Amino acid sequence: MALSNSQYQEIMRDYQAQQLRNKHEQDERIREIYERLPAVREIDQAVSTRAVLRAKELLNGKREALEELREEIADLREQKKVLLASKGYPADYMEMRYRCLDCQDTGYTKEDKKCHCFRQAQIRLLYAQSNLEEILKRENFDTFSYEYFDQEQVEPAVGMTVAAYMKQVYRWCMEFAIEFDEKGGNLLFTGATGRGKTFLTNCIAKKLIDSYHSVIYLSAHDLFDVFSKNRFEYQTEEGMKEMHQFIWDCDLLIIDDLGTELNNSFTSSQLFFCVNQRLLSGRSTIISTNLSLDRLRDEYTDRVTSRIMSSYTIIPLYGGDIRLRL
Ligand SMILES: [Zn+2]
Repeated sequence: MALSNSQYQEIMRDYQAQQLRNKHEQDERIREIYERLPAVREIDQAVSTRAVLRAKELLNGKREALEELREEIADLREQKKVLLASKGYPADYMEMRYRCLDCQDTGYTKEDKKCHCFRQAQIRLLYAQSNLEEILKRENFDTFSYEYFDQEQVEPAVGMTVAAYMKQVYRWCMEFAIEFDEKGGNLLFTGATGRGKTFLTNCIAKKLIDSYHSVIYLSAHDLFDVFSKNRFEYQTEEGMKEMHQFIWDCDLLIIDDLGTELNNSFTSSQLFFCVNQRLLSGRSTIISTNLSLDRLRDEYTDRVTSRIMSSYTIIPLYGGDIRLRL
């Protein structure tokens, strides 16, 4: 999962492009203000003239120059603020604006650590290299089709045809993705293989990745693999460590096909830990499983199942002759 050098360069190029855009947009705003409020331009010019003047004085040994300059600038700033407000502009209208305030679009924080937005970019890029990007091009809200679902027989569990029910499910998933920032939340898709669990999960993943959310998509097998490598191997490779950290940090964690991995007391406790940690930190998780809730309880523990049942929206999927006892 580690980035290659060229992948790193690609991310850094994006930051540089963003910085240029920020500067360009700031220039545009300044131009607009100078046109509408020529007095602001005069103030800006006055600020630089004064600064030069005072700097000379300072060099000539006039120690009060700096303090005087501060006062003058504060006064000019105030005048500028009043002028801007007179035309309905916020005081910081002419300042630089950033896509990410935390690193000011440099990718690194003040402590010289990779910013969270860098890590998101990294996830995006790593996904682009894996085949997920291709899958998401095919499986998303725009390509979702009802034609595969039964339109005649009423499914007793929901009192409507599976096709009609899937329209509701589609809407729930769409709402989940659209309201993600305000509401967050967690989903559990249950249902036998081939009922659309993975497709729906992909729809949500695509929508959120497209809106710059960090999404990690792991099969349950791979998830536990990451956990066990981080636990049992002292010298975990860098990529695995980062992946482990992403599992806690990402906006949305998708655990696909829970129940197909070999499970034991380790996986069970790790699943609880993972589900619980993400709930505590207010981050969203989607789990899909072909196990019924009863089976889930048997396979894992009561602790995990009740945690999931109390804080996840459970969406059972139906279809064909397969009936789920929930
Ligand atoms: Zn950032």
